Amino acid sequence: MKILVINCGSSSIKYSLIDIEREETLVQGIVEKIGEEHSIFRQRVQGRKVERRVKVRNHKDGLRLILDSLKNPSKGVIRDQSEISAVGHRVVHGGSDFVESTVIDDKVIETIRKYSSLAPLHNPPNLTGITILRELLPGIPHVAVFDTAFHQTMPEVAYLYPIPYEYYEKYGVRRYGFHGVSHRYVSQRAAEILGRDIRELKIITCHLGNGCSITAVDRGRSVDTSMGFTPLEGVPMGTRSGDIDPSIIQFLADVENLTLNEIYEILNKRSGLLGLSGVSNDVREIKKAADSGDHRAEIALEILAYRVKKYIGAYAAVMGGVDAIVFTAGIGENAHYIRSKICEGLGFLGVTLDEDRNRNPAEWNGVISAENSRVKVLVVPTREDLIIAKETLEAVTKAEERRKT
Ligand code: AMP
Repeated sequence: MKILVINCGSSSIKYSLIDIEREETLVQGIVEKIGEEHSIFRQRVQGRKVERRVKVRNHKDGLRLILDSLKNPSKGVIRDQSEISAVGHRVVHGGSDFVESTVIDDKVIETIRKYSSLAPLHNPPNLTGITILRELLPGIPHVAVFDTAFHQTMPEVAYLYPIPYEYYEKYGVRRYGFHGVSHRYVSQRAAEILGRDIRELKIITCHLGNGCSITAVDRGRSVDTSMGFTPLEGVPMGTRSGDIDPSIIQFLADVENLTLNEIYEILNKRSGLLGLSGVSNDVREIKKAADSGDHRAEIALEILAYRVKKYIGAYAAVMGGVDAIVFTAGIGENAHYIRSKICEGLGFLGVTLDEDRNRNPAEWNGVISAENSRVKVLVVPTREDLIIAKETLEAVTKAEERRKT
């Protein structure tokens, strides 16, 4: 059974075709710079990479290009569109309405549209992808897999902000959390690797990529997470600030004569590791600069690790302990020096890293804590495309069962 996974952004479309029984990615690709003079089409089919410049005027052109490439007689992987059994669409914001992945119908579309005001950069292009692909691939189920759904188990005490309650009631101003698909997968996978039932584990998952978020997963349920109303809250990220004193906004508006939009742009696009280091948003570049003595680069990495550590402390307190800490995504999976810095000094919690293992997690099935460490520390590569495909199948199966009963 083949499932097409689509992540439709404002100027790009990422996609994968997954063989769900074999858990294999048959094709993975991206169409970038949609609407610009030269768009880029990149695709990897079983290790073979293709890249070409094409003219892609809009998302419809882009999605047509993707479908055509999948069934290209020489380079494609399917003979006919009918081999695609379902489509899983990544949708960033499902608000409070969706606690799980859901088969899309007109009502679901309306609800996703309703949450566009909370995720103006993400939900509208997500919806564009859904609308066009329902036209191009009719007669098969399309499923919305929400970044927010996993966090819907958070208690009020974690999701309400201490601001006038009426803003929650009137506008839904609350913590939603993101990266839910990844946090759910890596926590489940960590339990599997440890040979334990997730229902008896307290896990802290650290998704550290270009966007970063930390989640407290208590017996398989998200009970708190660092991203909030939007993905701007929490630990510092590639270009996003994470937590800051909100008064800084008013202050900067006054002294720099900036509008709210300009400040929002600064906090989203020019802050975090990039803003601190002045070098890059990419940890690899920052590490190079830090190693050659650049203080700002060094302190940027220190601050990232320090703030992740603070969340680990907080979430251990929230859950009354912690059994495992899991690292994932670009930084979490690859930067051993960041993992080291984060775990440094956490001996009081029962965390002892094994530095050899930390440098070669794959050789240790991802377990990088010392044999005698009470808290297990793991590196679990996130495979968001596979997870979205699995969730898609799960949602379709559940919907069929409901229809039968
Ligand atoms: P993601 O959003 O999960 O794709 O993560 C992207 C980020 O991961 C990049 O911006 C880098 O900061 C970081 N990253 C990727 N590969 C490495 C690596 N080998 N070493 C350190 N950081 C990496």
